[in-house]
Amino acid sequence: FLGLSTLKPGEVLKLNRNELQALITTKDKNVIQAMYNHAESISRRYFDNKVYLRGIVEFSNECEKNCKYCGVRRSVKNVKRYCMSKEDILYCSDVIYNNGYGTMMLQSGEITNPKRIDWLEDLIKSIKIRSRKLESKRFNRPLSECKGLQIALSVGELSSEYYQRLYDAGARRYLLRIETSNPKLYAKLHPKDHHWEVRHQCLLDLKRIGYQTGTGILIGVPYQTSWDLADDILYLDKLGADMIGMGPYVYQPHTPIGNYWKWTTGRKIKNEKDQEDYNNYLIDLTIRVYALTRIVVGMANIAATTALEALSSTAREKALQSGCNLVMPIITPDEYRKEYALYTGKSEVVSHREKLVKLINKINKEPIFFEWGDPLPHTLRHQNN
Ligand code: SAM
Ligand code: SF4
Repeated sequence: FLGLSTLKPGEVLKLNRNELQALITTKDKNVIQAMYNHAESISRRYFDNKVYLRGIVEFSNECEKNCKYCGVRRSVKNVKRYCMSKEDILYCSDVIYNNGYGTMMLQSGEITNPKRIDWLEDLIKSIKIRSRKLESKRFNRPLSECKGLQIALSVGELSSEYYQRLYDAGARRYLLRIETSNPKLYAKLHPKDHHWEVRHQCLLDLKRIGYQTGTGILIGVPYQTSWDLADDILYLDKLGADMIGMGPYVYQPHTPIGNYWKWTTGRKIKNEKDQEDYNNYLIDLTIRVYALTRIVVGMANIAATTALEALSSTAREKALQSGCNLVMPIITPDEYRKEYALYTGKSEVVSHREKLVKLINKINKEPIFFEWGDPLPHTLRHQNN
């Protein structure tokens, strides 16, 4: 295959659509292993053996949108809606800082009213001040030299004016998955009033404003083809994503796509063995997409997402050896976590610090604490490739 075994370790490749599709579908075990090894060599070139940790707080499951795959979509009635108080979120920011995670990711459903934006602005400013004070105390540094936590947001599609206001308040990263690069597939996965073009434009706005922009896709979602996945990887590269947060689609009951999945895939899943086979297929597909993304985009931060962990307790290890360099432990307090059930099995995901450190050490990598782990700007990244 494409001479992968004769490649220079760390070499970033410009694979085309046909090559990517062939690699996504190959059954040749040697080729698959060569793909993983090459992705790992690129991660090592840029990040050495470092793994960055970002604490995620899912502060609200209220959502105006109705994405057909999501367990907290507007139409799901058997979910208790919540929004954490400012005090509870600030407490989580202390936990994140004291654990040394460096970045706090604030995630929620999409709420576009102006009051929510005012509230978020105030929250971001408070987290910055508070974490700078903690830094000053811990490292005995003057407050003026303390950067505090890096703040990342993942709160959906907003106007560019709102994105700007949140940036001005102190947020510097934003994760907004495009979900799929194929507008026709996007239309199948969302109701008619959700538009691919709007989401794409949001990503362009975020980049223009200066956010380190993260995006990603759902892998293995119904109706998706291997050609879609090949196009997705090319999309992520073309956009110049600073961070890539993508993961497997995980079945969620009470959703239109969940029902469709059950009807199509579910018919073949009659027992535990079938379920295990399906999970293994999905894990393999996801890790291939991670590896190929690393091979094509080079330096961006790529997360081994939590959804993967819901499928297998060892899948994240494998992902961290095949192109990923980020883990996002969930810090959401238990009482809220169960209500943020985007997909089946999510609440069992391991986020405990010691366990994560063990997992990372086991694969001979080093968790990095009290650092932001910012990527190089995209322009410099390409010169470096
Ligand atoms: N509401 C914001 C948004 O959609 O951008 C951020 C929160 S949303 C819950 C974060 C991500 O969860 C979505 O981008 C989607 O890809 C993912 N998600 C939703 N349902 C899922 C499922 N059943 N399986 C895997 N991922 C899912
Ligand atoms: Fe809302 Fe995000 Fe779920 Fe869509 S994916 S329904 S925007 S929380």
